[in-house]
Amino acid sequence: MDTSSAATLYIDGHWSTADSGATFDVTDPSSGKVIGRAADAGAAETERAIAAAAEAFPHWRAQNAYTRATALVRVHELMLERAEELAQLMSLEQGKPLRAARSEVLYGADFLMWFAEEAKRVYGSTIPSPRSNQRLTILRQPVGVVAGITPWNYPVSMITRKVAPAVAAGCTILVKPAEQTPLCAQAVVEIFDEAELPPGVVNLITTSQPAEVGDALLRSRAVRKLTFTGSTEVGKMLAGRATATMKRVSLELGGHAPFIVFEDSDVEHAAKGAALVKFLNTGQACISPNRIYVQRSVIDRFVDVLTDRARRLRPGGGLDESATIGPLIDASALAKMERQVADATQKGARVMTGGERLRGDGLANGYFFAPTVLTEISPAMSIYQEETFGPIAPVIVFDTEDEVVAMANDTDYGLASYVYTNDLARAVRVSEALRFGIVGINDINPTAAAAPFGGTGESGLGREGGAQGIDEYLDVKLVGHVLA
Ligand code: NAD
Repeated sequence: MDTSSAATLYIDGHWSTADSGATFDVTDPSSGKVIGRAADAGAAETERAIAAAAEAFPHWRAQNAYTRATALVRVHELMLERAEELAQLMSLEQGKPLRAARSEVLYGADFLMWFAEEAKRVYGSTIPSPRSNQRLTILRQPVGVVAGITPWNYPVSMITRKVAPAVAAGCTILVKPAEQTPLCAQAVVEIFDEAELPPGVVNLITTSQPAEVGDALLRSRAVRKLTFTGSTEVGKMLAGRATATMKRVSLELGGHAPFIVFEDSDVEHAAKGAALVKFLNTGQACISPNRIYVQRSVIDRFVDVLTDRARRLRPGGGLDESATIGPLIDASALAKMERQVADATQKGARVMTGGERLRGDGLANGYFFAPTVLTEISPAMSIYQEETFGPIAPVIVFDTEDEVVAMANDTDYGLASYVYTNDLARAVRVSEALRFGIVGINDINPTAAAAPFGGTGESGLGREGGAQGIDEYLDVKLVGHVLA
């Protein structure tokens, strides 16, 4: 891949630079070094990409499901062939350790195969009519041109999780990736190009001015659906504006996951699990535990193991094979960690480990924050209320099941939640009572391409992946037919 020419726009099957020739720098968050440039597109390029997608739509929807599935299988094959190249690029551009980048590429590829299969299962149905000479039939048809806006934290899989179901359903799509990770997006779209999808089916617009591109997408009547993954703040704003042209909307937004450890669980196992999922992607995951509730009788043991695990992590750049935790994405993320720790300690929190920016061992130019464990957390602290999106594990003590369920549900977010218990009845009760889209019972990874991912409340609308994921790209049509 040539990252020097900044021809990162893919419109109607052609790669190009921005009309003005403008570019923006892409940096390695572990060193602050510039690693490439991307085309800085605006409204004009976006409008052309929408027009290309609109023109391609009638042709693509007319292809049969097997043709669309075969195209996605080809993309899947190519992505697996390029897995190592993609993983290396992701580690460099986004900062996650290579091992994590490799597993994200595989997760991203899974959506291609899953939706290739689902393309063939877009079933309709018939409904018994109250009138004997009438037939009622339900068709499921592609919504049309889709705008997909994606974040930087999972820069490959968040794209395939949208493009695969859109393409499988017969839609065409324009992807606008985050400004921090345009090169991963380019590399993914290159694979669709190589798989020879017809021009206009998948389009890519890179930009450092998301509001200008977002405005063009929202204004357009041709764009019939917005699928967004990112912050709750931006998602709400875009969804509100999408109503002006009554677009279909699905939103995967922020989270504030509770992680509940009961005294009847294997506490050591729970603490190791908490460390794995909390420090995954340096805490920059929407399903990252943000409030770790531990029952009083086991809190000391839990905190010891969690703290030990946090101390053992080895920070480093993504391409450093010995690194087990990467940098944060940018300076503002680092500032948020410092602010949340300062606020918590001022209000009485205890720092068990970490708590500050890391500057030693060649880390000074990167955005490294020490894996941190805080105890004595109370609801007045900002870390208890806001999504952290970084490597800070706040531990809160609780006494009873009812109390912890009430505390866990006391948030406007509702994406992931975790429960550690070996009491079967409790596992059932608590999983039913938690007001979240995803519950992991003794399970830190309740996700798969085959499973519906999404939240309730301010964590979003709709589901991605699973049998449900393709529904977001299909309209339901009722056909009534009176027999002559
Ligand atoms: P963000 O909202 O700042 O950015 C997300 C995307 O929106 C980027 O592509 C950005 O360029 C774009 N954007 C920003 N302003 C825009 C505008 N005015 N018009 C159009 N597009 C605009 O979020 P972020 O900081 O990049 O991502 C982190 C957030 O994403 C966290 O809150 C995280 O929880 C959430 N997230 C959610 C999921 C999920 O599946 N629920 C997955 C990953 C990340």
